[in-house]
Amino acid sequence: MATHRVENQPPPLENYNVFLSDRALVEAVAREAPGASSSELVELGALAGKPETIALGFDANEHLPELRTHDRYGHRIDEVRFHPAWHELMKRATAYGLHGTPWEDTQPYPHVRRAAKFFVWSHVESGHGCPISMTYAAVPALRLQPEIASM
Ligand SMILES: Cc1cc2nc3c(=O)[nH]c(=O)nc-3n(C[C@H](O)[C@H](O)[C@H](O)COP(=O)(O)OP(=O)(O)OC[C@H]3O[C@@H](n4cnc5c(N)ncnc54)[C@H](O)[C@@H]3O)c2cc1C
Repeated sequence: MATHRVENQPPPLENYNVFLSDRALVEAVAREAPGASSSELVELGALAGKPETIALGFDANEHLPELRTHDRYGHRIDEVRFHPAWHELMKRATAYGLHGTPWEDTQPYPHVRRAAKFFVWSHVESGHGCPISMTYAAVPALRLQPEIASM
């Protein structure tokens, strides 16, 4: 159906660097992690601003997880299927060390760098940040209970 020409809208916010365009974050990283390399943050910032990355966030939110209680033979499986976009987001988040990697990172300021990366990546989609942030935050608690950590 034809409609009027839409002229009062800004262009889509895409193809920009989420890190470099955030002046407060750039300054905070320079202040809290002086001298640390920001090349990974710049790379992640560019990735987070790409239209195809932004689309993953929309796909993940539009396609809810599906509970499959049984397989086609009637066996109980209780499987939850996630849309591939969720898996893609998780893959990129772990590739950039947003989960537990700072606990083993020997470079300076690993937690500040990880926090900044998490902030940048949260622009794309929030939901997958839950398991990603929990697997980061759980490490100190597990270290206090080695009998559980070893399971
Ligand atoms: C969108 C979203 C939805 C979520 N939904 C849920 C939900 O429904 N249910 C749920 O349970 N969770 C959920 N989560 C996860 C949860 O809210 C927290 O994000 C997660 O538990 C991590 O907490 P945090 O980021 O505050 O990390 P922190 O709590 O800050 O974790 C860091 C840990 O490291 C320790 N630590 C820090 N520095 C040092 C150091 N130098 N030496 C030793 N230890 C140190 C801290 O004491 C702390 O234990 C969600 C997250 C997001 C982003």
